Amino acid sequence: MKVLKFGGTSVANAENIKKVKDIVQNAVKDQKIVVVVSALGGVTDLLIETAQLASQQDEKYTDLLQEIERRHLESIKDLIPVAQQSKVLSAVKREFNILETLLEGAFLIGEITPKLSDKIVSYGELLSSFIINEYFESEKLYSVFKDARTLIITNENFGKGIVDFSTTNQLCETYFGTVSFDVVVVPGFVASSREGNSTTLGRGGSDYTASIIAAAIEAEKLEIWTDVSGMYTANPKLVHQAVAINEISYEEAMELSHFGAKVLYPPTIQPVLAKGIPMHIKNTFNPEANGTLITKNSNGTKRAVRGISHIENIALLSLEGSGMVGIPGVSKKLFEVLSNGEVNVVLITQASSEHSICLGVSQDDIYKAETLINEAFAYEISLGKIKPLIVEKDLAIVALVGDNMKSHQGLSGRMFSSLGKNNVNIRAIAQGASERNISAVIELKDVKKALNTLHEKFFEDNIKQLNLFVMGVGNVGAKFLKQIEQQRKFLKEQMKLNVRVIALSNSRKMVFDQGGISLSKWQEQLQNGEQADIQTFVKKVNELNLRNSIFVDNTATELVSNTYGEYLRNSVSVVTCNKIASSSVYSNYLQLKDLSRKYNAPFLFETNVGAGLPIIDTLKNLIASGDKVTKIQAVLSGSLNFVFNNFDNTTNFENVVKQAQEEGYTEPDPKIDLSGIDVMRKILILARESGYKMELEDIENESFLPQECLDTDNVDDFYTSLVQNKKHFDSIFEKAASKNCRLKYVAQFENGKAKVGLQEIPEGHPFYNLEGKDNIVLFFTERYVEQPLLIKGAGAGADVTASGIFADIIRIGNF
Ligand code: ADP
Ligand code: ASP
Ligand code: MG
Repeated sequence: MKVLKFGGTSVANAENIKKVKDIVQNAVKDQKIVVVVSALGGVTDLLIETAQLASQQDEKYTDLLQEIERRHLESIKDLIPVAQQSKVLSAVKREFNILETLLEGAFLIGEITPKLSDKIVSYGELLSSFIINEYFESEKLYSVFKDARTLIITNENFGKGIVDFSTTNQLCETYFGTVSFDVVVVPGFVASSREGNSTTLGRGGSDYTASIIAAAIEAEKLEIWTDVSGMYTANPKLVHQAVAINEISYEEAMELSHFGAKVLYPPTIQPVLAKGIPMHIKNTFNPEANGTLITKNSNGTKRAVRGISHIENIALLSLEGSGMVGIPGVSKKLFEVLSNGEVNVVLITQASSEHSICLGVSQDDIYKAETLINEAFAYEISLGKIKPLIVEKDLAIVALVGDNMKSHQGLSGRMFSSLGKNNVNIRAIAQGASERNISAVIELKDVKKALNTLHEKFFEDNIKQLNLFVMGVGNVGAKFLKQIEQQRKFLKEQMKLNVRVIALSNSRKMVFDQGGISLSKWQEQLQNGEQADIQTFVKKVNELNLRNSIFVDNTATELVSNTYGEYLRNSVSVVTCNKIASSSVYSNYLQLKDLSRKYNAPFLFETNVGAGLPIIDTLKNLIASGDKVTKIQAVLSGSLNFVFNNFDNTTNFENVVKQAQEEGYTEPDPKIDLSGIDVMRKILILARESGYKMELEDIENESFLPQECLDTDNVDDFYTSLVQNKKHFDSIFEKAASKNCRLKYVAQFENGKAKVGLQEIPEGHPFYNLEGKDNIVLFFTERYVEQPLLIKGAGAGADVTASGIFADIIRIGNF
């Protein structure tokens, strides 16, 4: 014999019940079967709600009852041929009349006892099994209905009866030993007490019914048919990448279900485990799928971690105090009190100093637990030996589960470091003595992020998903998106990085798409987005709370750079080509660096100096390896270099500047480049990254622009002033040319001092032959004394800037 159990979704409506019939018809070809069914999906919840409303004397309970009746009658009409319908309809209506009377009783008294509640709730399974059996008969299956209350006997612990196995086993053996039908349909979840009252086996208990019967009759196999294709590596509703586990041991399955994998009601495993009956979890809606086979010795992969589960709504109770040290019996008393109060302890940790004990319990039990514990230890508390119980709420437990975990080292290290990198705060840790489980208590709000982080770490062949939030889609931003689109496949296959753009914004519109924005159609998506708002953007990014989140700033706006702190505080990394933050007041720069360290979120701005050239990264490596920068000499303005390389006595200075702007080599306001401000910011950043505390005002700037040009306050006026001062610019050129020198705008840092300005560079100097928009940096350090470390190449332009941003993203991916 085989036992097949069908869950709530599998029997939710006529359409699904027809699928169940197909599965049963197929199974019955080989042998007799027992079919255990749940209530129609959602009906148990509705019955509980109806009973509650009735007990609160709220007349709305009648509406709910009608809704429940309507669903059952509708199923009958859809399933049973018209000729046989009336008999079934009237039987079901009779049951609803009784149910109505019970509810009326609760309504009139204004109260509901656990006993009455079980009686009411049991109608869910009693009705579904009755209807399904009638349908099977009408489909010519040789089928019979058997009330589980005549098979499974429990005590009167209503809501979650404790099974009397010796009586139950006997009743099952006797009945199934003689039954001649091919199919026996049994309601799940319901049982009866020795006194003859209806009881239930706890929420989700139909799985247990099936297992109890399977064990009693020593069935060949127990099949649990549900709405997913087996037990998954994590709850598939929260982790999209989760996959069904092919094979798993009883112990692993038990551990996963105890730690929240709802697909199996935890007590279910014990009866079949005792008899060594294999259990198979299958999908009613995809019967072809493998499902999960649960046996004694699973031959699945030798993966250390088999699954990740979680339990929500956990509270931590901590009992602390000097009076606990070395005094035996404190823990005994604590657990006794909780056990007597029927408070289930999910997790325990005790520091080896014995100074504190920490317990995880369901949030529903906090009030009871707190009262019981504080009462039990009132004397010790009054003496100050033990502090009143500390209660922390809104927590959850995430757990790694696997039989082979004990033979793998460093798992907990990997678990906690990957959670830490994503700023998931760990409140407590426990490892079962069997080493089959490592659990961490975290904040409820972090559950989804933690599950996905751990799943990625332990199941996704180390593919890391990077979630990007991009602000600014102008020249640089658009190129950047293009580059990601081109490289996505390579990044995934070769670098194990899955880069997704979750949000985009320009100054007008913004769009969020958790599934990832299409990089070939982003313009369209952005166009149809909502109105842009920098603060709303920050809020949304932080609320999404995705792992490996990166905010990318492609703007030159201070309002945007002012938000970096808010991202970093939420462990969202920041990558920016906007120089404002790192060249703002030193205290702000330092604060962002500190936040980045504290929250494990990189803050990278390689493109602030020399666009895509690896200048800052090289500098960081020098410093990290213990070198010290003594002097920096550099040409850092691609735009100024372009201007002075193209300017001679055959051209107009103003035209050359315009050309530089048109070709995208200047800031939107070219004065920022020509005044030297931009170069000042760059040398400031290099000095700071070299370890020097410096402000922008500390940098000497000998501007080559006449005061009149500096005093303009818009771009047009600035160009006009360049025309008016033509003579001044011509003479600068001629003076240098007469000495055979070329003009370069040089930034220098030495002895803690920095200056920027136009210099006449003689032939033979490393700067003399600097072409087009190129940048060059010479680092003189304690190790590079005579010959400096030299970095040279294109230092401006959207393409190279975009690839510099890209490089920062990859640095974070490898972090
Ligand atoms: P049934 O009504 O068939 O008993 P349940 O709702 O009780 O179904 O259990 C199936 C549900 O369990 C799935 O739809 C899924 O949302 C949830 N679930 C939680 N964790 C897991 C997991 N690790 N593997 C599979 N399903 C899980
Ligand atoms: N119908 C019951 C419940 O919803 C039992 C079950 O479905 O397993 O809890
Ligand atoms: Mg279930």
